[in-house]
Amino acid sequence: MSSDSPELSFADLNLPSSILQALSDVGYETPSPIQAATIPLLLQGKDVVGMAQTGTGKTAAFALPVLADIDLNANHPQALVLCPTRELAIQVAEAFQSYAAHLKGFHVLPIYGGQDMRGQLKALKRGVHVVVGTPGRTLDHLNRKSLALNKIKTIVLDEADEMLRMGFIDDVEAILDKTPEDRRVALFSATMPAPIRKVANNYLNEPEEIQIKTKVTTNENIEQLYWLVSGTNKLDALTRILEVEEFDGMIIFVRTKTSTVELADKLNARGYSASALNGDMSQNLRIQTVEQLKRGSLDILVATDVAARGLDVERISHVMNYDIPYDDEAYVHRIGRTGRAGRTGKAILFVAPRERRLLRSIEKTTRKPITQMDLPTRSDLIEYRSKAFKDSVVEAMQRDDLDFFANIVKEISEEQNCSENEVGAALAYLVQKDRPLQPPKEKAKRERKERDFDQDDSRQRRKGRDGEKEISGYKAKPLKDHPDVEMQRFKVAVGRKDNVKPGQIVGAIANEAEIDGDYIGNIEIYETFSTVDLPAGMPKEVFNLLKQTMVCNRALNIDIFTEKPPRGKPGKSRLKSEGGDRRGKGHKRPSNENRGKRDKNPHRGKGKADGGRSQGPGKRAKS
Ligand code: AMP
Repeated sequence: MSSDSPELSFADLNLPSSILQALSDVGYETPSPIQAATIPLLLQGKDVVGMAQTGTGKTAAFALPVLADIDLNANHPQALVLCPTRELAIQVAEAFQSYAAHLKGFHVLPIYGGQDMRGQLKALKRGVHVVVGTPGRTLDHLNRKSLALNKIKTIVLDEADEMLRMGFIDDVEAILDKTPEDRRVALFSATMPAPIRKVANNYLNEPEEIQIKTKVTTNENIEQLYWLVSGTNKLDALTRILEVEEFDGMIIFVRTKTSTVELADKLNARGYSASALNGDMSQNLRIQTVEQLKRGSLDILVATDVAARGLDVERISHVMNYDIPYDDEAYVHRIGRTGRAGRTGKAILFVAPRERRLLRSIEKTTRKPITQMDLPTRSDLIEYRSKAFKDSVVEAMQRDDLDFFANIVKEISEEQNCSENEVGAALAYLVQKDRPLQPPKEKAKRERKERDFDQDDSRQRRKGRDGEKEISGYKAKPLKDHPDVEMQRFKVAVGRKDNVKPGQIVGAIANEAEIDGDYIGNIEIYETFSTVDLPAGMPKEVFNLLKQTMVCNRALNIDIFTEKPPRGKPGKSRLKSEGGDRRGKGHKRPSNENRGKRDKNPHRGKGKADGGRSQGPGKRAKS
């Protein structure tokens, strides 16, 4: 089993024991490839360019060496991480906090627009060791002199290509210009468009470039599917799949040791025979657990990559990638646990919207497309449950000791003057009432609605729905680069009278709704409102979020555009002439070639219902 093969550990990376303790607390077993490659270089003070996307473990790849180098007694910022969005800034700050759980007195501060300045000013004054900021707000603080970078030892550019795409690159360069010469720089980017390459050339000192490439093949016998996480949470989705999939043995892969135990417990509570398999368990216990799976006294193992490596159990018919693996090779190792000994197997991958790049990367590496699947619907569940119920009834009917019960049915029917059929129905109800054959309707209705919103192919989604009627004669224009994506015209409550620039609308929508900029289409600005073309079928939660998003001190109050625009010439359209400078500073939006290919569903809706405010440029306080 896995532990026999020599595996690089976090301890091998010369990280301080306080950090190792925190990693053990969060349940990480081994460094991901990007971590194994980056951490030693950053610890040596080298500059690094990491070609890595979300999900590869890149946050820890830069956070751990930064933390290893923090002087807790010095009360000034020693590292700055620049992120494209406020969500990412918060997420990265939280990651720092968890890795620094045993560094007493450590302070990290996320700074982003749309949040009251006063809190940030107060926190900066009190002293922080690491600042994680969006470029605009970081620059605001630098201009106000509330943030000083003269003692910064490390600067990290996280998701550099996203920052470029969102028009932040001038800000990033302005910030880099204000950092000391001898700081180390770590630049992470999923793609390497020319402007990012230029930043690396101009600002990094002989950087080491890290790109984790793997050449791997997958077994032809394995059917590969993915579900784009949306609408339903992963646990519910998993249980639905478990209910309808006919599986023999299954391995469910999660990222951390803690999750193996948590998920196994939850599945047991739902009636499945599941057990955790992780590196914390003794070798003996792991062997016993695998034996149980082999024998069939256990059906599901919830495992980490390390614990399940090399596992060879013929019975495993399914591999569930509950958490996406952090590299393509791990994916191949995982799914290779099924389809053993000439059998067929099925591998299902859960992909959160932000992780779609990892999915594409896996497909590229394995040179095999992974098919998108839908979750089983309510009627699938009803059909499946009814069939299982009927089978169990038919099986019971084979018994020869049913006379007593047949008599009871007959008596009830005579006493109540009803048919035996009615008695049968009542009995079926009694047997199934704690586990209804029909899932509750309300929930199903909600789910169906969510699914309608979340389907990947917007063209298909719109077909047959009456959404078209909602759009007036003023239909959205198709996107030049993605003519196959169905667009819809929306109205937002900021207009010429607010001095709004198309770029401000783009920035706010891209940032808040996490819609790729490539998919934000034509924008027209009128006196009291503007229209913006976005992919049709926006998830409800994103829609609600955009209603509250602030631009030019006004809530966007987005709505589907159903009226005729007022007479008079609209303002210039972003696609036609704006060139993407969302703050009018002459920044050139990257060319289409540089943007990298994107997949079809641009909605990366987060379901965040916190009434968050935009980091959009219109909201930023200028000093
Ligand atoms: P990131 O690519 O930094 O966004 O990380 C993606 C996810 O992987 C996060 O949930 C991390 O907590 C998790 N993660 C990062 N490194 C490891 C590791 N070495 N072992 C297990 N999980 C990890």
